[in-house]
Amino acid sequence: MQTSNLRSVVLVGGGLSSSILAWYFRSTHPLVEITIFDEKSEAELSKKTWSFHRSDIGQEYERIRPLVNFSWPQYEVRFRSYSKIYDSEYSTLKPSHLKKRLEEVGVNFYINCKVQIVDAQTVSHANGVVKADLVIDGRGQSPYSKGTCGYQKFHGLEIQTVSDHKIAVPILMDATVNQIDGYRFFYVLPLSKDRLLVEDTRYSDTTELNVSDYKNEIARYCADVLKIQIKEVTSEETGVLPIPFAPRLAKTFLFPTIGTAGQYCHPVTSYTLADSVRVSKEICQLENINTTSVMDLLNQYRESRAKVNSFYFKLNRLLFLAGKPTERWRIFEHFYAMPASTVARFYAGETTALDKMRILSGKPPVPILDAIRVLRKSEMEFT
Ligand SMILES: Cc1cc2nc3c(=O)[nH]c(=O)nc-3n(C[C@H](O)[C@H](O)[C@H](O)COP(=O)(O)OP(=O)(O)OC[C@H]3O[C@@H](n4cnc5c(N)ncnc54)[C@H](O)[C@@H]3O)c2cc1C
Repeated sequence: MQTSNLRSVVLVGGGLSSSILAWYFRSTHPLVEITIFDEKSEAELSKKTWSFHRSDIGQEYERIRPLVNFSWPQYEVRFRSYSKIYDSEYSTLKPSHLKKRLEEVGVNFYINCKVQIVDAQTVSHANGVVKADLVIDGRGQSPYSKGTCGYQKFHGLEIQTVSDHKIAVPILMDATVNQIDGYRFFYVLPLSKDRLLVEDTRYSDTTELNVSDYKNEIARYCADVLKIQIKEVTSEETGVLPIPFAPRLAKTFLFPTIGTAGQYCHPVTSYTLADSVRVSKEICQLENINTTSVMDLLNQYRESRAKVNSFYFKLNRLLFLAGKPTERWRIFEHFYAMPASTVARFYAGETTALDKMRILSGKPPVPILDAIRVLRKSEMEFT
């Protein structure tokens, strides 16, 4: 039941976090007018695939089930010394489907429309000014300064294969490949019997990404490892995502800011759906929804995540600042050897004290002196 005096919300940016919040608003506050503005075209908006583990969001999965395009009951990881199949559901949303569902439930979704946030109740665009009771900033990732993050960079091809590729479950990491430019793995999603998304991903120190090199590498991987023939490339996606070494300070934000713009995402993987779902649920449960209450809630949420996120930022520093880039794969190989429950809690951002001990114990995957040097550094050096 709607209890708040809220009548209108403007979401700036039509990416994952805004779309999830709009979906929650629609189901909890059906009378509130929801408007999304995104500067991109429909085609540009579509160049992403948003995946997540069902266990990241528990029972909230039911609420977002209508938005899911694909899901698989298992997924696989491959390393040089072992491969593993996890009995854990993995799902994917496509931006165009998400937008369509939002429009069907009455969300005003304007594309090709860059807006500025003027104040807490006003945004402006080329054709004028829009007022709303609540304006939320979901404009996505802003840059990090040099030396304060590493990068997860990737290029992916959605392909049609000549015949049945016979890949039944997603391969989230195939790290058996040649290790170049940091930790490198292939990511494969079987979208149908003759459609695959194949990505070449690297946890790298640099932002450079030569698309034609990546495309050649993907073609080679398809031929040599997957043993498939590509009939046609139907779409492409690319990303250079910062993997930060420390949290952003809350005072950075002038307006309620969600998603990666507010650093509400998993620090190690950049996955954003779990935080978006939790934040959206909590915003929609507020008795009085207004700029102040939402800002307060976002700050409280950030505080509540600070301890576990601090561990993830530490892992990022270990990953990028200790050991040689070409040896980074050892950290992931060590990590995935953990019990499935530890891996699931890691993705969900719910790593426990015991999990932390497990992750940091055993034969160190990076040189011990390097690890000590990096672990001694404080977050403050990277904010
Ligand atoms: C190719 C790709 C694949 C990815 N795959 C996954 C995945 O599988 N799972 C996952 O969790 N994460 C994935 N990510 C990470 C991803 O960035 C985030 O998870 C997610 O998109 C972040 O959501 P967001 O709402 O913070 O930002 P975004 O989704 O980036 O949305 C921000 C939006 O704001 C718009 N915008 C910016 N400024 C303005 C303005 N002034 N006016 C109007 N609009 C504006 C942008 O056009 C953009 O569409 C992927 C990223 C990329 C690039």
